[in-house]
Amino acid sequence: MRAIVKKFSEVGVWWDEVPKPTLKDNEVLIKIHKTSICGTDVHIYKWDAWARKNVPVPLVIGHEFVGVIEQVGSRVRHHKIGDRVTGEGHLTCGACEPCLEGKRHLCPKTRGIGYHAQGCFADYLALPDENVFALPKEIPDDLAAIFDPFGNTVHTVLSFPLTSEDVLITGAGPIGCMAAAVARFGGAREVVVTDVNQWRLALAKKMGATRTVNVKEEELTGSFGLGFEMAGNGDALQNLLKHVKHGGKIALLGILPPGTLIDWDLVIFKMLEIKGIYGREIFRTWHQMCRLLEGGLNISPIITHRFKAEEFQQGFDAMLSGQCGKVILDWV
Ligand code: NAD
Ligand code: ZN
Repeated sequence: MRAIVKKFSEVGVWWDEVPKPTLKDNEVLIKIHKTSICGTDVHIYKWDAWARKNVPVPLVIGHEFVGVIEQVGSRVRHHKIGDRVTGEGHLTCGACEPCLEGKRHLCPKTRGIGYHAQGCFADYLALPDENVFALPKEIPDDLAAIFDPFGNTVHTVLSFPLTSEDVLITGAGPIGCMAAAVARFGGAREVVVTDVNQWRLALAKKMGATRTVNVKEEELTGSFGLGFEMAGNGDALQNLLKHVKHGGKIALLGILPPGTLIDWDLVIFKMLEIKGIYGREIFRTWHQMCRLLEGGLNISPIITHRFKAEEFQQGFDAMLSGQCGKVILDWV
């Protein structure tokens, strides 16, 4: 089958022919229709320190997808051939205390498809039955293909009561932009988004931010009940801590560089509440995403580029340029 592969320990990803996955008893075989490129795929492309440490070579990359089940293993109980599906890319152990309590997002043994295990940038993906999410017909393929990062967004933004709050979001990447849409839809009063990239701030505005601030050119003002860190940048985090009110609540999604320092006085004397976020609640967040979209939330403007799978290099170039939202690759 065709696949996008991290083939060599150097910058880049490569188009390749690889064997179709052999199906385990508990897995379904998904014919991939669309995939979407994540910032993580760009880390793997750039072959930075995180990627070199985590990603085995060679590996089919990718973890954002939608497709149709073509085959099921003998122990598959919940899904059937023909189901249109996406799925949770975090493979959990099923045996630890959080897994047994139904809190799979807290599994300490989580492995990710596309960076630890075989990914979805290919004609086929084999996925455990328990990771598959069957899509309601109301959800279009393009949006289903970005359920993974949309889920990161929803998990973060719905972490705290939102209605009537003023919200600060640092980082207008795809996730920060979607967060602006979810926060507005969820009843926030003001939704302020910061970035250093004007193109992306314009996208945040389109997605529902009430104000955008280019922190390279302008000082952030205001005081916020809720703060979401979605830049993965220490300066952004420090700014967020400064502008969240006493007793404010913060969720950290952005992955900060090792050794990032903050002013702990801001946390302690303002009595801030801080929550870390990894992935999505399985499958609570997934149902929330469906209900939000079915209820009228519009995140479509976040998809800014579409390419054929073979044109993946153009997709990665768009991601590397910073002038993009989500980039979709079409496999059919
Ligand atoms: P992205 O890299 O596309 O967006 C980050 C944005 O932050 C960029 O537009 C960048 O210009 C901006 N930025 C840089 N410095 C800034 C500053 N000082 N102030 C404000 N903005 C600044 O990333 P994304 O795909 O939107 O994801 C957001 C973050 O979440 C990333 O750090 C990503 O690694 C992380 N992430 C975490 C999880 C998780 O499960 N915890 C999952 C997905 C992504
Ligand atoms: Zn577990």
